[in-house]
Amino acid sequence: MTASVPKTTDVFVIGGGPAGLAVAIAARQKGFEVVVADGTHAPIDKACGEGFLPDGLAALERLGIRIPLGLGRPFCGIRFVGADISADAMFPGRTLGLAVRRTVLHQLMMERASQLGAKLHYGTAVSGISAEGVHLCDRFVRARWIIGADGFNSRVRRWAGMGEGHRPRMRYAFRQHYRIPPWSDHMEVYWGERCQGYATAVTNDEVCVAVASPDPHLRLEEGVKLLPHLSARLSGAQAVSAERGSLTGNRQFRRVSKDNVVLVGDASGTVDAITGEGMGLAFSQAVALAESLPARDLAHYEVQHRKLAMRPLGMARLMLTLDGRPRLQHRTLRVFQTHPEIFQRLIALHVGVLPPTRMVWDGLTLGWRLLTA
Ligand SMILES: Cc1cc2nc3c(=O)[nH]c(=O)nc-3n(C[C@H](O)[C@H](O)[C@H](O)COP(=O)(O)OP(=O)(O)OC[C@H]3O[C@@H](n4cnc5c(N)ncnc54)[C@H](O)[C@@H]3O)c2cc1C
Repeated sequence: MTASVPKTTDVFVIGGGPAGLAVAIAARQKGFEVVVADGTHAPIDKACGEGFLPDGLAALERLGIRIPLGLGRPFCGIRFVGADISADAMFPGRTLGLAVRRTVLHQLMMERASQLGAKLHYGTAVSGISAEGVHLCDRFVRARWIIGADGFNSRVRRWAGMGEGHRPRMRYAFRQHYRIPPWSDHMEVYWGERCQGYATAVTNDEVCVAVASPDPHLRLEEGVKLLPHLSARLSGAQAVSAERGSLTGNRQFRRVSKDNVVLVGDASGTVDAITGEGMGLAFSQAVALAESLPARDLAHYEVQHRKLAMRPLGMARLMLTLDGRPRLQHRTLRVFQTHPEIFQRLIALHVGVLPPTRMVWDGLTLGWRLLTA
């Protein structure tokens, strides 16, 4: 990390979370000068399921980052657990996902961005932008491109006048880590009447647990109690991190760029946590953005941004139809159990191995099986 912020740069990235660092890396790979400023101190932790599906991992590798074995924990597929039934599917072609603590990921991404020559400034909040550059509390930095990677409540989006978009149905999510040997080699989704639980082992003795619900008052401990199978797994396990909360849901904006200001990551829209795709999506957006900058072709970025979001948004909608519907959850899980090839195909679709056009066909197949189950 460097001491003083330069007076000028090609690209100024506001927000040094996963999306901001991904832009820094991708823009440096294209030869742009890059400055990143984040108001908080590194390494940054955040409420997150901390899992990368195989496609997200591939996007991370395109940025030149491989998570060393021992710093994360691989998983081979997804398991859905209902009240009295469960079903699981492996990732296609024996590919693996990987779970990794946010703080570890952040450290690795900072190292990669620094090695490439990006100038990183944590504990440095941005207070405003103008057409020429970025205002920090005590100075002004000229920038050709201003990138808003400042998360869900993006102020850059408001400063640039890109609008608030529609207010979708959001859910409230909390996460915490438990010291316990992993009991599964899958990323697990626990379906309940009032909430869902997610469990992913991030090391050989630590499991990341998250709970998401439309109820703002349902905190993690209470949520886990509503999911008896998860609760039994965690019985006696010690919580080893602070509980963190966040909003989650599908949110889209009409545009993600205006003049020389461009949004990326959660600032540019979100996909629900159930997809496990938020970071992978941000990494692919970062690469698409860096490809658009040399030709100053933000229309290209807008098109790519919409395309990239299509699959995870569609999958989130499909999966969230089960939210709060115990009978439908039971029937769906029974179909997945008796026809594992359907679940397998949906997972292949989810990680981008099958084209999105298959979503309609697989949705219809599932619907038919549900009707006839
Ligand atoms: C419960 C839950 C589970 C999830 N599980 C997964 C999962 O398993 N896998 C996955 O891939 N994704 C998951 N996600 C999504 C993922 O966490 C987000 O998509 C990801 O954090 C987005 O990164 P970002 O860099 O866009 O935003 P953030 O991580 O929010 O980073 C934004 C940064 O901007 C900084 N900032 C804000 N304003 C300013 C300012 N004015 N000046 C300077 N800095 C500023 C903030 O300090 C922050 O560090 C999950 C999300 C939730 C809520």
